[in-house]
Amino acid sequence: MRIIVQKFGGTSLSTSQAKEHVIQHIKRERDNGYAVVVVVSAIGRRGDPYATDTLLDQLQPYGHAIDLKERDMLLSCGELISATLIGAQIRAEGIPALVLSGGEAGIETDEEYGSAKIIAIKPERILKALEAGHVVVVTGFQGMTKHGAVTTLGRGGSDTSATALGAALKAEIVDIYTDVNGILTADPKLVSDAKPIAQVSYAEICHMAREGAKVVHPRAVEIAQQARIPVRIRSTFSNEEGTLVQDAAWEHNEHAVLDRHVTGIAYAKGITQLYVSGTDERKHDPQLIFETLANHQISVDFINVSASHSIFTVQAEQNRIAYTLLQERGFHVLLNDECAKISIIGGGMNGQPGVMARIVAALTKENIPILQSADSNAAIWVLVKEEYMSKALTALHSTFDLNR
Ligand code: ADP
Ligand code: MG
Repeated sequence: MRIIVQKFGGTSLSTSQAKEHVIQHIKRERDNGYAVVVVVSAIGRRGDPYATDTLLDQLQPYGHAIDLKERDMLLSCGELISATLIGAQIRAEGIPALVLSGGEAGIETDEEYGSAKIIAIKPERILKALEAGHVVVVTGFQGMTKHGAVTTLGRGGSDTSATALGAALKAEIVDIYTDVNGILTADPKLVSDAKPIAQVSYAEICHMAREGAKVVHPRAVEIAQQARIPVRIRSTFSNEEGTLVQDAAWEHNEHAVLDRHVTGIAYAKGITQLYVSGTDERKHDPQLIFETLANHQISVDFINVSASHSIFTVQAEQNRIAYTLLQERGFHVLLNDECAKISIIGGGMNGQPGVMARIVAALTKENIPILQSADSNAAIWVLVKEEYMSKALTALHSTFDLNR
């Protein structure tokens, strides 16, 4: 049996026209000879009646009275609704369908409500239904503990459900359908001439996803990589093939030629830069600085330590507490908030001279100050003020010819 997993995101289910497209994709792959497993997210976005964030908002008045286990019961409803509707629509087309909740589908998780990890998947029930010719529709984003409690998997959870099911079912491919034509060289909402990337490696896409390209969740990609299952990111609204994510030749073959240095650009907003130095009473002490932050679960990035001072970034939500803690220890602290981290990503930039020079030249030409930079063998990061972010993305995008 050749199995395909098709995951449909929230915007792919929100109108009757969109659902019509979903049915067409299911029918096409059945006609291609696949046994089809469909994984669905909740319908729509915050504000739509059954979207995950809308459900979450219902609990807002209750604060500390909220029980996390019960919150997961509420959050899991969005997918139950969308799965039931899609299941009915498939059957209305004359195709036999079976709708399963995460627990019924055999997805067992730990008990970390709100961000549960999948421990095991028992795929027998799905396999039996597929053998019988059914399309199996599974609610994304959720599983069940061994004691039978419903859990949710956290942000991007439906992507994770899809690749984990793909791995457990030994699927030939996992297709993630969304509202864009694949993984693009940058977020099309900010860079209007961003182009779909035909092929990328798991590692590159994990990098992009972790650095803010929210089109697919990095956890989902890691699972696919471990199971060596190719993933396609593609549009619900067209028949184009989108982006194929798989192992890249250049990661295994030192003689392989890669004709691109930069694959894509991602960004993350809401970052604060801290400059911490000593005073007359308290000399600069990096060990005390970073231990203090670690002890309060404050994660730091862009770390740069010198004899006289330390510079690093924290998430904006944690900047006040970081500031207060370090001041209490007697350090001199300066905050630079509303910064954005821009990540220039490419498995092919390793050992290539001049990538940083081009970045600096492109930003300098636009009068965008670089507050900090860092690099690895597959990425270069720059920190700029948020007000310049959009301009910086566009400038870097065209400097590396990603719009061609
Ligand atoms: P879904 O509900 O289908 O899971 P998401 O909102 O999670 O959809 O992901 C799709 C969105 O990801 C797109 O609408 C796009 O704005 C955003 N996005 C950010 N970076 C990228 C990128 N590099 N390529 C494609 N989409 C991106
Ligand atoms: Mg998504």
